[in-house]
Amino acid sequence: MGGIVIVGAGQAGASLAQKLRAEGYDGTVTLIGDEPVPPYERPPLSKAYLLGEQARERLFLRPEAIYAEKDITLKLGAAVEQIDVDAQTVTVGGEAVVYDKLALVTGSVPIRLPAAIGGDLDGVFTVRTLADIDAMRDRFVEGARVLVVGGGYIGLEAAAVASKLGLKVTLVEMAERILGRVASVETADVIRAAHTRHGVDLREGVGLERLTGEGAVTGAVLTDGTELTVDFVLVGIGIRPATDLAETAGLVCDNGIAVDELGQTSAPGVWAAGDCTSFPYQGGRLRLESVQNAIDQAEAVAANMLGAGEPYVPYPWFWSDQYDLKLQIAGLNTGYDRVVVRQGDAGVSHWYYKKDRFLAVDAINAPRDYMVGKRVLEMGLDAPADTVADPTSDLKTLLRK
Ligand SMILES: Cc1cc2nc3c(=O)[nH]c(=O)nc-3n(C[C@H](O)[C@H](O)[C@H](O)COP(=O)(O)OP(=O)(O)OC[C@H]3O[C@@H](n4cnc5c(N)ncnc54)[C@H](O)[C@@H]3O)c2cc1C
Repeated sequence: MGGIVIVGAGQAGASLAQKLRAEGYDGTVTLIGDEPVPPYERPPLSKAYLLGEQARERLFLRPEAIYAEKDITLKLGAAVEQIDVDAQTVTVGGEAVVYDKLALVTGSVPIRLPAAIGGDLDGVFTVRTLADIDAMRDRFVEGARVLVVGGGYIGLEAAAVASKLGLKVTLVEMAERILGRVASVETADVIRAAHTRHGVDLREGVGLERLTGEGAVTGAVLTDGTELTVDFVLVGIGIRPATDLAETAGLVCDNGIAVDELGQTSAPGVWAAGDCTSFPYQGGRLRLESVQNAIDQAEAVAANMLGAGEPYVPYPWFWSDQYDLKLQIAGLNTGYDRVVVRQGDAGVSHWYYKKDRFLAVDAINAPRDYMVGKRVLEMGLDAPADTVADPTSDLKTLLRK
């Protein structure tokens, strides 16, 4: 067949295929995905879709017919088993598909609880795919007791949905506080308060020792010795980049499939984008788990596969919805040494600095602060802390060079 083969029909895969066509590529494009459905967006899985407020059809990134219209061959329910970089083939269902260029956009794999502590019991769910949500949906009935393991965004969002639907929610976070890896104490405090207000039993510094039950989960023992009765368990303890296929094919991986600034892997003709990659960033390597990165990197890589030669520069942004809180994040707070709070009437924003250099902002019900912070970062401007901290200052002045 030849042409361009894309492995992974998710957020990045869909963007990459579309961008190839938008750039005028008229060779064969084959988009192969192991899930049985066309590319869809994952964020609503732990938000509006889980809550029952977003219809299934509205998850799909594009109507399925668009792929045929754009002459993109969509192979669904088809796992790529192997890549042969010398023969330039991928194996699907035992058959070899030839490529001229290959893009790996395989996403992430949720980390599961080990079977030794009950991770394989019936009623224990991860929150990654549409199939995961559809499998757990019937359990979301008023009064059901759910244990959420992990206080990152996904666990917290799922806990918020469960609580809104009237379930009895316990959330355990092994680290000393929720969102420890990704957000400041200030942001975590606002989020924790919302959960507590909504009746979630949120326990920090307490891990899961083991799950109990005969075949199906019925209980949990926590690291502090507490025993809980549970009807089901949601596991949100992180993800790892889906690199197995690449590693077996001999591609260099380093916290993700290692790509250069153009998105090229260590194998000639093989490119990668999205959650599964780590790319050069400020002298190190960065892996992002976000829709923004999946789309922007995939589009950059598509253009580069056609010869654009433009390095990918991320402008990270992210969001999370919990109860009536809309958290919007711009930038990366890695290495921050100071957080400046801007208290508004309706919301609050937390501005991260490293040696007085503005890095990132978490805006909670403060869309204007988010917009300004994002623009400041994109324009390479500064956000002096005294201006930010003064609630009467006009943030827009930060956008004047
Ligand atoms: C519940 C949830 C909520 C989220 N909320 C947010 C949010 O609010 N904001 C945000 O920015 N991000 C959010 N994210 C993260 C965001 O969805 C991901 O960063 C994004 O989907 C990454 O896109 P991707 O294309 O790299 O990976 P994916 O979308 O995961 O797509 C990869 C696809 O490749 C397939 N695949 C893997 N291996 C093979 C193979 N060998 N053969 C064929 N197919 C294969 C996978 O099954 C998958 O379908 C959320 C994620 C989840 C799970």
